[in-house]
Amino acid sequence: MAKPEDAKNLSYPYLSSDEVNEHFKAIVRNSEDAIISRTVSGIVTSWNKAAEKLFGYSAAEMVGNPMLALFPKDRLNEEFFILDLIIAGEKVDHFETIRIHRDGKLIDVSNTISPIRDSFGMIIGFSSIVRDISKRKKLERLQNQFKAIIDYSDDAIISMSLDGVIQSWNRGAEAIFGYSSDEMIGMSISHLLPPGKHDENDNILEKLKKGERVAPLESVRICKGGRPIAVSITTSAIRDAKDRIVGISKILQDITLKKYNESRLQLTSSVFSNTNEGILITDAKGTILEVNDSFLRISGYSRDDILGKTPAIFRSSRHAPKFIEAIRELLMKSGTYQGEAWSRKKDGSAYASLLTINVVKDETGEAKHYVSLISDVTPLREKQEQMEHLAHFDALTDLPNRILLADRLQQAMAHVNRHKQSLAVLYLDLDYFKEVNDNHGHNAGDQLLVTVSHRMRDALRNVDTLARIGGDEFVAVLLDVGTPVECNYLAERILHACAEPVLIDGHLLQVSASIGMTIYPQDNTDAEELMRHADSAMYQAKQAGRNRVQLFDSALESEIKNRSLQISRIAQAFDTNEFVLYYQPKVNMRLGTVFGAEALIRWLHPQRGILPPSEFLPVIENHNMEYILGYWVIETALAQIESWRGLGLAMTVSVNLCANLLLKADFIEKLTALISKYPLMNPGSLELEILETNDVQDISKILLVVKQCQPLGVGFSIDDFGTGNSSMTYLNRLPAETLKIDQSFVRDILVDHEDQAMVKGVIALAHAFKRKVIAEGVENIEIGEKLLDLGCDFAQGFGIDRPMPGDEFPTWVASWAPHDYWKNRAYIIN
Ligand code: C2E
Ligand code: CA
Ligand code: CA
Repeated sequence: MAKPEDAKNLSYPYLSSDEVNEHFKAIVRNSEDAIISRTVSGIVTSWNKAAEKLFGYSAAEMVGNPMLALFPKDRLNEEFFILDLIIAGEKVDHFETIRIHRDGKLIDVSNTISPIRDSFGMIIGFSSIVRDISKRKKLERLQNQFKAIIDYSDDAIISMSLDGVIQSWNRGAEAIFGYSSDEMIGMSISHLLPPGKHDENDNILEKLKKGERVAPLESVRICKGGRPIAVSITTSAIRDAKDRIVGISKILQDITLKKYNESRLQLTSSVFSNTNEGILITDAKGTILEVNDSFLRISGYSRDDILGKTPAIFRSSRHAPKFIEAIRELLMKSGTYQGEAWSRKKDGSAYASLLTINVVKDETGEAKHYVSLISDVTPLREKQEQMEHLAHFDALTDLPNRILLADRLQQAMAHVNRHKQSLAVLYLDLDYFKEVNDNHGHNAGDQLLVTVSHRMRDALRNVDTLARIGGDEFVAVLLDVGTPVECNYLAERILHACAEPVLIDGHLLQVSASIGMTIYPQDNTDAEELMRHADSAMYQAKQAGRNRVQLFDSALESEIKNRSLQISRIAQAFDTNEFVLYYQPKVNMRLGTVFGAEALIRWLHPQRGILPPSEFLPVIENHNMEYILGYWVIETALAQIESWRGLGLAMTVSVNLCANLLLKADFIEKLTALISKYPLMNPGSLELEILETNDVQDISKILLVVKQCQPLGVGFSIDDFGTGNSSMTYLNRLPAETLKIDQSFVRDILVDHEDQAMVKGVIALAHAFKRKVIAEGVENIEIGEKLLDLGCDFAQGFGIDRPMPGDEFPTWVASWAPHDYWKNRAYIIN
């Protein structure tokens, strides 16, 4: 560091001081740099040519004046600071700063300030050498900018030597590839190449060396960690001042996302054109911008037909304008709509579509496009309709099934309610259909069902419904029927349709139908109950002999309703032994002997007293209870015979046998088992009273059973003889030993000549056919007298005595004596 005293030693040995002075002046004058001197207080003392040029002020303007105008405000402190340093004796190197040109422009300068001392070494002023460095500074700034651009670019900007060694690696490169510049500078660029791509770089290098331009290319590079990315690469040569290629620069862009978007777009567009769904795109106003081929296929329009139009052209008349409004509103609210809609094809026909509309919004949230997806669900609908058909129609006959019937009946009821009409519900059951199935097979049965059901349907009117609700059961609902007569007419038509023979597999098959019918609202109840009523009437039609129509009778119905209650009460009574047999004596009036008794059932009802069979037997008719009670009667009568036998009383006991029991398949077996319980008993002590019947079929069956029973030794009698039409047939064919003249003839024998004639006839018949004849209902002595006169010795009736409990019977037998009038009466044969 120079001390102020050193200035005193300043000397120039070869020149005089004047010469020195001139010399310096010349240097100053001709200097390229501005050379300025000033006093300590800052007044300019000299201002050379270069200063004039640099600052734009002439020497005349500056010398003698302060040079403050040259300083930007913020540089004044810097100047004072440096001057202070110099005064303090510090040596200050040149520094770079800024000054102001006369025209106001800032100038970059380098400044060297030195002190001027007097001969005593005191600082009396300062000299400045100021050099214009604007050009260099500009260049420097430019370079810095370039560097910044390169540094801060998102793209990777990499320079390398001709042999591929990386020289620079910017932040973009760091971001894209994940390597820091420290890691990469000095490495080979081939580090970034995926395996198998090494010649890519070599080819580029070759081209560059030959001075050829290398077109930008898209390729793949590998990042730190091995992740491949798609890049676009621009390669250029780096040349020196003499235009020699000294290196290579590469700019790489990560285009992975762009590539992904591109492929997505490609996918989207292939979906757009290949999907089965119709796609329609409109702008915000609803103008159609684009449709895909599927849409054209579904709608039948061509692209030219619809581009530029609005979807209003597809609107089906099936939708009210409100429907479109509703969709629009929903779109506004939620941005999406989905639902089924009907649309119109070009040819005007309608098709069902599943419609999805989505709003596509721009960045500001404004609706930009509407994208509609349309799938034609017409085939689906058809399938659905098919399924619905299956669910509602019988597969065999294609008639409505039970489910649809319920629906139709409800509707029909509502209809007749509105129009004050009537409807009829008919319950149909085919007669003898089981036989067809059994004898000809189920296929034939099915064919018969199909044919017969279609004939029945054809016999009805269009407004009527015929449904199949079970194997051979059908229900018809007839609308707007007038009188029951009209109704009957329709039902008769069905009967006829049914009874027509059907030719199946060469066989002529024939069935008939039993129809139960009820009429609404005369039968004022609900649908379910109407069906039940028609069903129960059908059952009555069957009972009445089939192939007929039976109108539902509500009085009968309520009786049936009670029936099940009564049956359960009877079953309970049976369990608690409330049933007993009473015995009514049968006597020989002429001889005055008791030869037997008729067993008659009684119910010893705890509340109602002794109930006659008419109170409960009809209730259990055709019910299982009838058989249970029937066998019980036989068993009880057998036990009674046996018990009397034990007392030395040999009695023939007759029991009343209902035809149903007799005709049961296991009857003979059961009867045999019961009798075999009493091996010591004469089986002939048991007599079965069978009622006369009019059913010819039943007669033959009864005949068969009776014949099969004969080996058992039990006796048979025909009860209530003379009441049926088939008495002669019976007498002819039935091997029954006894005829019981019905009490209705006996009762009036004294007053009614016809009855008397009838009784006479029966007695004569009995004698002719060598049968025993017994009169029942002998209420008094006179009747008995008359019977004896007519040749009938055997009698039963209140005139002899009423039915009595079994344990009273032996005493009664012992005490009974015939009337004097009856004894020893002569036969009157006429
Ligand atoms: P039924 O076989 O004709 O029996 C004779 C009925 O006439 C008996 O009535 C008897 O009490 C009644 N009776 C007897 N003598 C006279 C008389 O002089 N005047 C009048 N008015 N009636 C007389 P009950 O016991 O009420 O039986 C009625 C019907 O019930 C019987 O008619 C028979 O068909 C049936 N029945 C009775 N017990 C049984 C039974 O155990 N099983 C079956 N299946 N039916 C029975
Ligand atoms: Ca009887
Ligand atoms: Ca009788």
